[in-house]
Amino acid sequence: MTQHFNHFIEGTTFEASDGRRIALVDPVTEQTYGSTARGTAEDVDRAVSAARQQLEHGAWRQLDGAQRGRLLSKLADLVERDTELLADLDANAIGRSPVEPRRLDIPNAIANLRAAAGWANQLEGRTIPTGGYFGTKTLSYTVREPVGVVGAIVPWNSPLMITVWKLAALLAAGCTVVVKPSEETPQSALHLAALAQQAGFPDGVINVVTGYGDEVGRALCEHPHVAKISFTGSPEAGREIQRTAGVLFKRVALELGGKSPQIVFDDASFDDALFGCSLGLFANQGQICAAGSRILVQRGIAERFAAALADAARAVKVGDPRQPGVQMGPVAKKAQFDRVNRYIQLGIEQGASLLAGGVSNAGQGWFVQPTIFANARNDMAIARDEIFGPVGTVITFDSEEEAIALANDSTYGLAATVWTADLVRAHRVAAAVKAGAVGVNCWSPLDANLPWGGVKSSGIGREGGFSGAQAYTEEKVITVLLPG
Ligand code: NAD
Repeated sequence: MTQHFNHFIEGTTFEASDGRRIALVDPVTEQTYGSTARGTAEDVDRAVSAARQQLEHGAWRQLDGAQRGRLLSKLADLVERDTELLADLDANAIGRSPVEPRRLDIPNAIANLRAAAGWANQLEGRTIPTGGYFGTKTLSYTVREPVGVVGAIVPWNSPLMITVWKLAALLAAGCTVVVKPSEETPQSALHLAALAQQAGFPDGVINVVTGYGDEVGRALCEHPHVAKISFTGSPEAGREIQRTAGVLFKRVALELGGKSPQIVFDDASFDDALFGCSLGLFANQGQICAAGSRILVQRGIAERFAAALADAARAVKVGDPRQPGVQMGPVAKKAQFDRVNRYIQLGIEQGASLLAGGVSNAGQGWFVQPTIFANARNDMAIARDEIFGPVGTVITFDSEEEAIALANDSTYGLAATVWTADLVRAHRVAAAVKAGAVGVNCWSPLDANLPWGGVKSSGIGREGGFSGAQAYTEEKVITVLLPG
């Protein structure tokens, strides 16, 4: 069935101002199944104007936190009602099994909307004691104001969940938004915007402009009335956005990539660590920012653990994700297929031991084999770079100090996992590892109440939790002179 998508601006759908379109391609069949509007700077301007109108003069501006929270709760209910549809939209667009978004991404999005419904009424200021003003007493207090119109730029790997991470928080804070979904996955963001309209959000609060990063994304970063850019995607695009938006003094939040270590000590539950490492490598074809793709294993169990991971890789059922029982579909696009294969080839050339998988041949659909390398070194490309595919790199360590040094020897710092039965060591290692989030005996525990984000090249800022909502506010201080 052919599907065509357009922008959603001020509650209405629009084609691109110059009528151009982008083809949407099914990663399983490599056939074009539809298209989306190829947005222009003019389209972005139209959407930003609608968002600005609501922020400064519209019904949205009049709503208090409790009222915004009620709208967010209604939206959560509608997303819950449409769970299957939204999971299918995201899964089909990237060739993923719909089971994963049904169980993980969509429930997480609903939880984020419900959590943000509560935050909306809790963005409080403070009263701050001061020394007065030239001998006269003063009262100083702060208020949290919405930062303004937000440009939300989203990747393709988990389209709805990542869109909601941004929307839930910024709507709680009273901002308005122009969403730019990935050019490959506009579907669920557009459906979300339509659901928001049904929930009662005033038209113009949530706008979606589809198109390319260097056209729509760039126009958002350059637009004088966009106050903040909230970006999730690759470090390369993040750097470019920081350059463009930063010089205009826009607020910039960057959720970038990772090369997250999973540290497996020899006292860990072997089976739990194996399950967690497999999940961290193979869920969503490894196309997860927090993928635990560097597996650091203590020498005593390293060989057995790597062999068991290789067995797990061989056991993954790869195929058309719409067929029952299939656990892994293709990677999302041709560029990913080439990238993953290039890294597998590099791993072989640089001398790591290939235990499972390997370079995949081009056929119909961008299928890659789950791949495990062992006896790798941390300076190899497969240990340093984010591959964004189902490829695990096993590196052996002897001591806790060495494990920490290896874990931190990375330009990234998004997530880390520690597998051990020694909880004192777990806390010690968790404190020493440079990452935005550390799981102890659990890989990547996401929760709507927890902040998420990275250090070093993994990004700037936090999404989720109360700090996520606060990040869409400016703290204003007001001082009143109290003579007499
Ligand atoms: P990408 O950087 O290519 O694209 C992300 C989005 O940015 C897309 O909408 C794209 O059109 C847009 N874009 C690209 N160049 C731009 C530019 N110059 N200006 C403005 N917008 C631009 O990333 P991707 O391939 O879609 O996603 C994969 C990357 O996302 C990986 O590196 C992954 O680790 C990262 N990611 C991070 C998180 C996190 O929470 N830290 C979550 C998911 C994905």
